[in-house]
Parts: sequence; structure tokens; C-alpha cells
Amino acid sequence: MSTVFKKIIDRQIPADIVYEDEQSMVFKDIHPQAPVHLIVIPKKEIPTLNDLTEADEGLIGHLFVVIARVAKQLGLTGGYRVVVNCGPEAGQEVMHLHFHLLGGRSFGWPPG
Ligand code: AMP
Repeated sequence: MSTVFKKIIDRQIPADIVYEDEQSMVFKDIHPQAPVHLIVIPKKEIPTLNDLTEADEGLIGHLFVVIARVAKQLGLTGGYRVVVNCGPEAGQEVMHLHFHLLGGRSFGWPPG
């Protein structure tokens, strides 16, 4: 069964897409936890961080370049946070690898 993010990639359900290229997509989180809360995904279906292989090294590098470019375009000059939840103890709900790009406010440490 397709994940909700695969359905967004396939245009089966709507999303507020802010960036897209052949390998990646960036869209607004439906339940934002900060003034800027974007979801950055590979179009390749990879369930979790643990499922990455060496073949994905270039893809992951590309995703971080996309993150930095989008953050710059949004004017997040004061900083931002990138989060990956991997597995149930980290609270991963959608089994399609994704990076949360959070900005527009200050963040505490350690995270909750
Ligand atoms: P995680 O807990 O790391 O798996 O995060 C999944 C994120 O996806 C949550 O922040 C959700 O709010 C977000 N989300 C779930 N469904 C959608 C959707 N249809 N469009 C945008 N974001 C979504």
C-alpha cells in the first residue's frame, strides 16, 4: 500500500509543494510545528533511514543541497533545524524517508 508521501508524489492527494525536481520534492507539513515546517523527501521509496544503502549516497547529498537552497530562499538566515525520525521510538509515522525542515523560531535542546 502506498504511503501518504507516495500519493503526494503521484498527485493522488494534494500538497502545498514548494520545490520539486527529478529526485526530490519539498512540501509544507500539514501540521506545522514552527512558522516554517517543510517535508523534504526523495521520490525514491525508501521507508526509513535504516533502509539506505551505499547506492543512495548521492541522493542523500542531493537532498541536503536542496534543504540548504530552500532554507536560503526562505530567508532562514538565523538558522533552522533538520530532523529525521527513524523508527517508532523516534515517532516516525510515515514510512517514507523524510527530513523535517523547521525554521522561523528558536528551538530548544535537547529535543523532546
Ligand atoms: P514523522 O513523524 O517523522 O513520520 O512525520 C510525518 C509528518 O508528515 C508529520 O509532521 C505530519 O504532520 C506530516 N504529514 C502527514 N500527512 C501529511 C500530508 N498529507 N501533507 C503534508 N504533511 C503530512
